[in-house]
Amino acid sequence: MTPATTSAPATAPPAAGGELTKLHAVMREQLDDLIAHAEAGLCDCPRCRRYELVRDALLEVFRD
Ligand SMILES: [Zn+2]
Repeated sequence: MTPATTSAPATAPPAAGGELTKLHAVMREQLDDLIAHAEAGLCDCPRCRRYELVRDALLEVFRD
């Protein structure tokens, strides 16, 4: 069995930006929501844990 490959075109179609922009907008919205919640003080709810996961991931990425 060969691993499934996506049949993505070599050149991006002109309208390819829409879905990505929408995805980014959703991610931004959720991130803003998590940050706004965490700014009030970390409790121990799922949102705080998600915030800490994102924060730890970002710290890892931007670590020098
Ligand atoms: Zn919380």
